[in-house]
Amino acid sequence: MGRERFGSFGLATPPARRTMPADEAISLLENGTARPGSLLGYGNGRSYGDSCQNDAGAVVDMRPLNRIRSFNAETGVLEADAGMLLCDIIAHAAPHGFFPAVVPGTQFVTLGGAIANDVHGKNHHRRGTFGCHVEALTLLRSDGRTHRCSQTDNFRLFQATIGGMGLTGLILSASIRLMRVPSLDIMERATRFRDIGEFFDLAEAADQANEYAVAWIDQLAGGHGRGRGLLFTGNHAEHGSHVAARAGSQLSVPVQPPFNVLNRPFLTAFNAVYRWNKGRSSTPRQAGYQGFFFPLDGGRDWNRLYGPRGLFQHQSLVPEANARRAVPALLEVARRSGQGSFLTVLKRFADVRSPALLSFPRPGYTLTLDFPNRGERTLRLLAELDRITVEVGGAVNPYKDARMGPEIFAASFPQWHRLEALRDPAFMSSFWTRTAMRLDVGHRVAEAAE
Ligand SMILES: Cc1cc2nc3c(=O)[nH]c(=O)nc-3n(C[C@H](O)[C@H](O)[C@H](O)COP(=O)(O)OP(=O)(O)OC[C@H]3O[C@@H](n4cnc5c(N)ncnc54)[C@H](O)[C@@H]3O)c2cc1C
Repeated sequence: MGRERFGSFGLATPPARRTMPADEAISLLENGTARPGSLLGYGNGRSYGDSCQNDAGAVVDMRPLNRIRSFNAETGVLEADAGMLLCDIIAHAAPHGFFPAVVPGTQFVTLGGAIANDVHGKNHHRRGTFGCHVEALTLLRSDGRTHRCSQTDNFRLFQATIGGMGLTGLILSASIRLMRVPSLDIMERATRFRDIGEFFDLAEAADQANEYAVAWIDQLAGGHGRGRGLLFTGNHAEHGSHVAARAGSQLSVPVQPPFNVLNRPFLTAFNAVYRWNKGRSSTPRQAGYQGFFFPLDGGRDWNRLYGPRGLFQHQSLVPEANARRAVPALLEVARRSGQGSFLTVLKRFADVRSPALLSFPRPGYTLTLDFPNRGERTLRLLAELDRITVEVGGAVNPYKDARMGPEIFAASFPQWHRLEALRDPAFMSSFWTRTAMRLDVGHRVAEAAE
C-alpha cells in the first residue's frame, strides 16, 4: 500500500511509516496477540495532524470495510461498517428524505473517523456533535472481544470511544440516527458584517432562526475593515433535490507546487473578491448541499497549494463570556504576525452535551485559522494562539493539531486521564505520545516520589 494514501490532511507531518490491512489487525486483536502501542485505526486521513498517525506502530486501513448493514427508511437509523464514507451515507439516505444530523466541512470522512473525533458541523446549536446521534457501535479490543457499546451497554466504553481519537480499540461498525429533511438543497443567505462586534450582535439570533450558521472572516483586512466578514445561514429547502450529486470534483492539483501558492498578496485579493461576490445580495437563494457544506471538496488535493511543507490549522474554542475579548485578540495576533490565514471561520457552539468523554465543542465561540507552514515563525504564532486560548479557559482542537505541547492539551482537556484509563494498551497515536503520555509519565514520577 502506498504511504501517500496514509497521510494527514495538513501535510506538515509525514505519512504513516507502517500500514496494516484491517483483516490482519482484526485477527491479531481476536487472537490477543497485538503488541502494546502497535495499532491505530485510520479512516480517510482528513485529520490535519498526527492524531491519525502512529509512528511507533502501524495504522490500520479501515476504508475497505464499507458496507451498509441496514437502513430503516421509516426511522432513518442506518448501520454501516466503520470505513463507510459520509458521501456514500448521504447518497444512500437522500432518496428516502434523510441526511446526517451533523456533517463536518468535508464529506470524505469515514463513519469511524467522525465518531472517533466526535466531529461538529454548522448546526452545533441545534444538533450537537456527531456523537449525539450514535445509537450503538461495535468495538474490537485487544482482549479479543467485540464489545457492543451504547447508552445502555458498556456505557463507559461508549463515552470513551466517541471523541476517543481511536485509542479505545477498533470501531468495526456503528448505527446512527439520520435527520429527516424536506430536501438536500439549502436556502442560503449571506449577511455582511463590518467587524467582529457586529458578528457577535448577529450570531445568537442567527442560530435561533436557522438550522445552520457559520461566519467567514477576512482575516487580512486592516484599518476600518478589520474583522469584517460574511455570516452564512441556511435551512433545508422545502422543495429541492433528493438525489446526492456525485461527490468530489474534476478540478485537482495534480502536482505539488515547490512553494506556497496561497501567499499574502494572493489571499488579500481573493478575500476582497470573495466578500464582494458572496455578499452582493442578502436575499436567500437556493443552493446545492455540496457547495454549502463542502465547498473545499470542490478542489481535489487543494492542500497541496500550501507547498511541500504543508499547513497548520489552529482551531480554538473560547467560552462565551470571554469571546468578545479573546476572538479579536486571536485575530490580531495572527494579523500582526504577517502570516495570512487562507480560511478563517468563526462559529458559535451552544450547550448541547455530547455523550463523549473528550469532546472539543462546548458553549462558546470557535475560531479556525489555516497557516502555511513557515517553520519556527509559524510555530511561535501557534503557541501564542494556544496561550491566549487556554488563558481564558478555552481549548485547542487536538484533531486539527500537529504540534501543541502536553500542557496545552491538559488545559484544554483536564479529563484526559479518564480516556487514558480506558485506552486499549494495543493502541497508540503519535498525538497521544506527544501529549498525554508525557503527562502520564509526569504523573507516574510524582506518584513514585510520594
Ligand atoms: C476540508 C476539511 C474540513 C473539515 N471540517 C470539519 C468540521 O467542520 N468539523 C469537524 O469537526 N472536523 C472537520 N474536519 C476534520 C475531520 O472531519 C475529522 O478529522 C474527521 O474525524 C476525519 O475523519 P477520517 O475518516 O478522515 O479519519 P482519520 O483522520 O483517518 O482519523 C481520525 C481519528 O479517528 C480514528 N479512527 C478512524 N477510523 C477508526 C476506526 N474504525 N476505529 C477506531 N478509530 C478510528 C483515528 O485513529 C483518528 O484518531 C475537516 C477536515 C477537512 C480536511
